Amino acid sequence: MTQTLDWALRVDLLAAATAVAVLAAFATLTLWSGVAAAERGAALRRRISAGVALAIGAMSTHFILMSGQPLPGSPAYDGLALIAAFALAAFGALLCQTLLTTRASPMRWLGAAGVLAAALCGASVLALHALAVEPHIGWRPAALAVALAVGVAGIGAAFWLWSGPRFGARLHRATPAALLLGLTLAALDVAVIDATILPAGSLIAAGQGGTLGGEALTMLALLGGPVVLALLLLVALLEDRFSGLLARAREELQRATYTDPLTRLPNRLMFEDRLKRSAQRADRSDQRLALLFINLDGLKGVNEHYGQHVGDALLRHVGQRLGALCSGREMLARAGGDEFLLLIDDNPDTEAAAQRACALLAELARPCQIEQREHVVSASIGIAMYPEHGAVSRLIPHAAAALSVAKHQGGATHCFYEAGMLSGKRDEMDMLRDLRLAIERGELELFYQPKIHAPSGEITGVEALMRWHHAQRGTVSPEVFIPIAERYGLIHAIGNWLVDDACRQIRAWRNQGLRMRVAINLSVHQLHQPDLAARIGAALQRNRLDAQVLTCEITETLATDDSHDAHGVIDELAALGVHLSIDDFGTGYSNLGRLRALPAEELKIDRGLVLDLATSSDAHAIVDAVVKLAHALGLKVVAEGVETETQQRLLRDLGCHELQGYLFAKPMSARALAQWAMKQEGPRAIDFRASLFGETRAVELI
Ligand code: C2E
Ligand code: MG
Ligand code: MG
Repeated sequence: MTQTLDWALRVDLLAAATAVAVLAAFATLTLWSGVAAAERGAALRRRISAGVALAIGAMSTHFILMSGQPLPGSPAYDGLALIAAFALAAFGALLCQTLLTTRASPMRWLGAAGVLAAALCGASVLALHALAVEPHIGWRPAALAVALAVGVAGIGAAFWLWSGPRFGARLHRATPAALLLGLTLAALDVAVIDATILPAGSLIAAGQGGTLGGEALTMLALLGGPVVLALLLLVALLEDRFSGLLARAREELQRATYTDPLTRLPNRLMFEDRLKRSAQRADRSDQRLALLFINLDGLKGVNEHYGQHVGDALLRHVGQRLGALCSGREMLARAGGDEFLLLIDDNPDTEAAAQRACALLAELARPCQIEQREHVVSASIGIAMYPEHGAVSRLIPHAAAALSVAKHQGGATHCFYEAGMLSGKRDEMDMLRDLRLAIERGELELFYQPKIHAPSGEITGVEALMRWHHAQRGTVSPEVFIPIAERYGLIHAIGNWLVDDACRQIRAWRNQGLRMRVAINLSVHQLHQPDLAARIGAALQRNRLDAQVLTCEITETLATDDSHDAHGVIDELAALGVHLSIDDFGTGYSNLGRLRALPAEELKIDRGLVLDLATSSDAHAIVDAVVKLAHALGLKVVAEGVETETQQRLLRDLGCHELQGYLFAKPMSARALAQWAMKQEGPRAIDFRASLFGETRAVELI
């Protein structure tokens, strides 16, 4: 015959036990919440504290519940067994948390709940075994299984409530979960106590060595437990608050590091970070990226005219406009100054990238209103594609190289990167550096190419063509260095040198008795030099030369472009008395009205037309028309690039006045020219001497 303990569920004790259990559950979940974000040491401390909190909760609940039981005598407990029970609960909590922190899945919740429920059941069983009764307590396995099931279900549900898809810092979820966990703790302990069998005639073996008084434990559970739990909870909450502030400060710092303060767009640092990640993803999925380097044309002018604040407002506006055009898969950043970067990572092809660039350019071309004033900015875009245009680290420099080509094409356009753009740029910079020193180092020289009177074969003058003798590069063509000089503002210095040197040479020849007319080439930029005519006049005067000895060649497009403000300078040159010649005629679309109004007296047929003359009926027809036009306008016609006798004959028959080309002579140094003329050398035997020394043209030399 067995007698079971007649468990009296005293509501007041049950409420107290449940309250302590809920407090313990809340402290535990709070401590667990911060583990993921904490550093290693702090995380371990939190996990251990959580284990201790849960063990305190479990033991306190147990002793509070046990204190109401009608035991045979004053209860006492085996100290060691209690320590084991405490350790088991704490260890179970530790293990459970380890299972929870890894990626969440229902199986893991259940596993974690099972571990914790088993540990708590075990702790209760141990605590009951610690009860010093003779003979020992027995168990009803079915009731124990129910206790375990209640534990697993309750704890599992609490975890589900708390966790969401990931376990971590979600403190607000802890409140309902802690309530459920606390209730489960209490219920589990009630169920375990209920599963015990106390044999008939059991006696409390009080007062033995190593036993603890039940009343003292009850007091400890009722007072000490909640105090320690409250302390643990308080420390955890304070720590969370502090680390929350710290995290926010860190976040703020991070935002400042990665955001452009003016436009609030991501900055270059963040862009590069994203670019790297996108490239890795593109590599894995065998996809492409497009990087657009956008640069505004004319922001400098806005800053200078309207002030920095207007420029800033314009940049903000542009940032917003571009941002509004970007989709979620694109990243727009401000790289600094007037530069923006756009990353397209939805596997675009070149056509899609080009379309994107066109859309952005069209959007930017719309006028915008800033401070009641309308502003129009355009932009240039350089595009580099990944992976075909280079490694990810080279993508921004490559897009920048393409951008600078787009700018040189006049801006308001886009350009794709091509191999060699970057080295071309580097080479250009090297050349610019050397070109700056070329004049003072005496590396520039004028070569001269004769012009021949077509019917008589007499020499009528020469064209001065510039050469740059570079120590490493050899002789550099003007077609290479003149555009660089124009682009970087060196053309004025070089042009001034040209005028001085040509006049000096004419004087030197004159002193030798050679009457030589010299034609010089003027670049577009030189015609914007307001003092050009004055400079030429001064050089002529210095060398005691009449303006008539000098011819200025201006390209057709420049000469006949009505909108050009260079015409004031052209008129001044004409007033000075120098001859004007229209170079490279036949390549542009001339404004004939303007051509008539120009004070020019010579047309030079482009050498491209001369080249095709014998083979193309079109070229023949154009040259014929040009010669007739020139005759009608009273202009002299010169054909350049004459290389063959056929060309010479055709041009003479068509009515060209003068010819210039390799057939007669290549451009040569002043010295070589004088010798060549004196020796009467050349592919054809022409008596240059007579034309040079005789008065074949009415040229007045002072
Ligand atoms: P351009 O004024 O049309 O000069 C004629 C070019 O044709 C020269 O090239 C000359 O060497 C070349 N040429 C002459 N005869 C023949 C021929 O029979 N066959 C072929 N294939 N070519 C011939 P170069 O000296 O290389 O000059 C190129 C251009 O550079 C010139 O074209 C001119 O626009 C510019 N340039 C040259 N010197 C100066 C200068 O001092 N100042 C400025 N602003 N431009 C210059
Ligand atoms: Mg020329
Ligand atoms: Mg020419």
